[in-house]
Amino acid sequence: MKIKHGIIGLGGMGSWHCDNVKAHLSDRMEVVAAYDIRPEVKDHAENKGLKFYENLDDFLASDIDLVTIATPNNFHMPLTVAALNAGKHVICEKPIAMNAGELETMIAAAKANGKVFACHQNRRWDRDFRIIKSLVDDGSLGKPYFIESRVQGSRRSLVGWRDYAVNGGGMVYDWGIHLIDQIMWMIDSPVVQIAPNLHKVFSREVDDNFKVLFTFENGVSALVEVSTNCFINQPRWHVSFEEGTAIVEDWDCHGKIVKLSDSGEMSWDNDIVYTSAGPTRTMAPRPVHTTKQLELPKVNTDWADYYRNIVDVIAGDAELIVKPEQTLRVMRVIDAIFECDRTGEPIKCRI
Ligand code: NAD
Repeated sequence: MKIKHGIIGLGGMGSWHCDNVKAHLSDRMEVVAAYDIRPEVKDHAENKGLKFYENLDDFLASDIDLVTIATPNNFHMPLTVAALNAGKHVICEKPIAMNAGELETMIAAAKANGKVFACHQNRRWDRDFRIIKSLVDDGSLGKPYFIESRVQGSRRSLVGWRDYAVNGGGMVYDWGIHLIDQIMWMIDSPVVQIAPNLHKVFSREVDDNFKVLFTFENGVSALVEVSTNCFINQPRWHVSFEEGTAIVEDWDCHGKIVKLSDSGEMSWDNDIVYTSAGPTRTMAPRPVHTTKQLELPKVNTDWADYYRNIVDVIAGDAELIVKPEQTLRVMRVIDAIFECDRTGEPIKCRI
C-alpha cells in the first residue's frame, strides 16, 4: 500500500517536495494533502491535486501517514511534535530546529510515539560532496588533513523570513547546516574546537556571510564558508590529503586531483627561485614530471534516494541514513557557533 503523504508549508521547498515525490516515488508514495497558514495557497495546492487544509488539527486528523514540514525554521519544533503526537511519521526540513534543546524535545516525541523522524539533509546526496567523500573513504590520496568547503554567491539580500532572527534566518542555519552536516557525516571523529567568524554585512539581524574553522579529534581541520557578497568565487571544495590535493570547482563538478607521480623520480635541484615577489625555495613550483593529474572519480547520486530510504525505514526494511542523533550533533555544533559569536571566544568541546 502506498504511503499517504501530507505537506505543511507549501511554499518554495514544500512545492519541491510535492513535485519530487510525484516524479520519483509515485509507485510507493502519494502526496495527498497540504496545510499552510496562508489561505491563498489553496489554489496552488489544488492545482497540484492536493486536498488543502486551513486548519492544522483537521490536517493531522486525516489519514495521512507521513508529514513533511517545510515552514520557516522557528515553526519546525512545535509542528513536528504535533504531527508525531498525532501518530504521523515526520520529515522536517533543515535546520531541524532552532537549537539542540528543541531537537531533544522532538526526538523524545518520536520515541514516545514510535514514529520515524528525520531531517531533510538532502545535500548528503550532492555529487560534489560525494566525490570528496569517496576520496576520503577510499584512502587513495592518504588521509585528509585540511578540508575547505565553500558556497559563495553575490546576491547580498536574504529573501523574506531568512532575514529575521525570530524565524531562524541567516546563513549558518540556511546553508551552513548543509555544509556542516556533510563534513560531520564524512569525518568520523568528534569536533573538539570551533572558531567562527560571523558577519552581518547587509542584514540587520542575522549572519549573511561567515567562516567557521573546525578541528576534529583525529586531527582533521575543516573550514566552512558561506558568502552572499562574494564576486570572485573560490572552488566549492579544496581538500589537502597527505598524498595529493583535490578540488571541485563548481556545482557542475569540474575539478581535478594532483598527486605525486608514480615514477619515483622525485629529485630536482633544490635551488632558490627568484620570483617577481622575491626569492623562495619552499614555495617554488615543483617540477611538473614529479606530479600527475587525475580526473575526479565518477560518482552517481540521486536526491530521491533520501525518500527511498524513508519509505524503506517506514516499511521496516532499512535503517535511517540521516539519523536524529547525527542531526543532534550538528545542532550542538550550531549552538556552539552562536555561543562563540556571542562571546568572541573559540570553543573547546567534544561533540
Ligand atoms: P517559503 O517561504 O518559500 O515557504 C514557507 C511556507 O510555509 C509558506 O507557504 C508559508 O505560508 C508557510 N508557513 C509559514 N508559517 C507556517 C506555519 N506556522 N504553519 C504552516 N505553514 C506555514 O520558504 P522555503 O524556502 O520553502 O523554506 C521552507 C523550509 O525549507 C525552511 O526550513 C528552509 O530552511 C527549508 N529549505 C530547505 C532546502 C533544502 O535544500 N533542504 C531548500 C530550501 C529551503
